[in-house]
Amino acid sequence: MTNFKVGIIGAGPSGLAMLRAFESEQKKGNPIPEVKCYEKQEDWGGMWNYTWRTGVGKYGEPIHGSMYKYLWSNGPKECLEFADYTFTEHFGQAISSYPPREVLFDYIQGRIKKSNARDFIQFNTVARWADYLEDKQQFRVVFDNLVENETFEEYFDYLVVGTGHFSTPNMPYFEGIDEFPGTVMHAHDFRGADQFINQKLLLVGSSYSAEDIGVQCYKHGSKSITISYRSAPIGVKWPDGIVEKPLITHFEGNKAFFSDGTSEEFDAVIMCTGYQHKFPFLPDELRLKTKNCLYPGNLYKGVVYNENERLIYLGMQDQYYTFNMFDTQAWFARDYMLGRIPLPNKEERDVDIQKWIDNEAKTASGEDHVDFQTDYIKDLIQFTDYPPFDLDKVATMFKSWLHDKEVNILNYRDQVYTSVMDGTQAAPHHTPWMDEMDDSLERYLNEEAPVSEEVSETV
Ligand code: FAD
Ligand code: NAP
Ligand code: MG
Repeated sequence: MTNFKVGIIGAGPSGLAMLRAFESEQKKGNPIPEVKCYEKQEDWGGMWNYTWRTGVGKYGEPIHGSMYKYLWSNGPKECLEFADYTFTEHFGQAISSYPPREVLFDYIQGRIKKSNARDFIQFNTVARWADYLEDKQQFRVVFDNLVENETFEEYFDYLVVGTGHFSTPNMPYFEGIDEFPGTVMHAHDFRGADQFINQKLLLVGSSYSAEDIGVQCYKHGSKSITISYRSAPIGVKWPDGIVEKPLITHFEGNKAFFSDGTSEEFDAVIMCTGYQHKFPFLPDELRLKTKNCLYPGNLYKGVVYNENERLIYLGMQDQYYTFNMFDTQAWFARDYMLGRIPLPNKEERDVDIQKWIDNEAKTASGEDHVDFQTDYIKDLIQFTDYPPFDLDKVATMFKSWLHDKEVNILNYRDQVYTSVMDGTQAAPHHTPWMDEMDDSLERYLNEEAPVSEEVSETV
């Protein structure tokens, strides 16, 4: 059956994967349902669509973007490569394994621009509210057209939520921070190291944001970086100028006190304390409630909402794999909606979900997490015709990446890997990462390009 209607919320990598999945079906000459995608920003790409803005956007909506100037991939591109559109196909040459944001954004767009996907996306349109009408067996979704300042509603047989989960800050309170005289911000609002040159920085958190913002600020000239952890330190070999300390107990003026009894003065505090899964447009009974983990509960195969079979979530997991995982999810979702993948009854789904949750609980190390997510993708990919690829080799690359970071957190981005999709061996970047201050696409692809002063930006 294809005479049904699918609504996709968000045109980031997940939403675009969903559009691509339907497009590939259409290209085979098969009928597809009516598909519409709604994106609150004025362009696609989600996180990868950089914005200089913080707080609210042009139309007063909370800013989605959490990326910053000088952001380079923090994992090898060979681990996120689309199986049906390689980096070599896109760039026509071998590039390095850790490209900057603009280069990855270009790659994401390359695949989708080959289709007419843009025609199916309504930009500057935010989902305000959704409910499920039992009698019609449809979702009613209320949208705001931000440009026209007009509200309208649409009805869908399936609703796909691809709104990401790294946008709404988790912002802890520490006694005395209200009196801290310098900048206090969350990583979500961090737009580049420039404003912190020569400053003594305190970062809270011990995951990717703390690690990368710490290293970026070190590279771009902060005076010192202190990273304060709650559960466990990041624990790599830090250069002089970056230290890890246990959790802050409180602040007095510009001085932070730590639970090991030490204290120190700082110029600025950046909370790298993660994000909340936030779906302000969904009512309680449709809302996924989870912390950032590898297997959120209530999602069958990590995709189908277990309380309402017509509601699909994409990309809600914590992410080692990204673009190709979103693809395998989207292909699964497509074939499920097309009726090719039967859904077991709720009890059986509960058992399947619980099995994954129990397995995640047994993971401890980064390597365990990689193996877990690899197994998850292996499970999904067998259901569809998404081009199979050597997931064991990708897992091995992830493990080398973890190792490279431990060996030297400042130059792991100079390492090169080999694509499992087409065998292309990455070419080392022309300039060591620590010396490369220009993250523009022009400079990346052409060493002779004039070094840019300003990062280009979208409005
Ligand atoms: P998003 O990219 O977040 O896109 C969601 C989209 O939904 C956005 O366009 C948003 O505007 C839209 N939206 C939200 N709410 C609504 C609404 N109510 N109505 C309409 N539209 C809405 N991954 C990597 O692979 N490599 C990296 O180096 C990397 N670096 C990262 C750095 C940072 C700082 C962060 C936060 C994440 C990074 N990631 C990285 C992970 C990133 O989450 C994924 O690469 C990817 O962007 C997730 O895609 P998504 O489509 O699920 O979500
Ligand atoms: P995260 O991985 O969810 O980590 C959140 C961190 O905050 C954890 O270390 C957590 O500590 C800590 N935390 C939470 N509440 C705290 C509190 N009250 N006090 C102290 N610490 C607290 O979030 P993230 O690091 O922001 O990463 C999010 C995503 O962004 C990831 O996918 C990452 O890959 C991506 N990213 C990529 C780059 C890049 O270079 N390309 C840069 C930044 C981020 P516990 O361990 O104690 O829970
Ligand atoms: Mg630029």
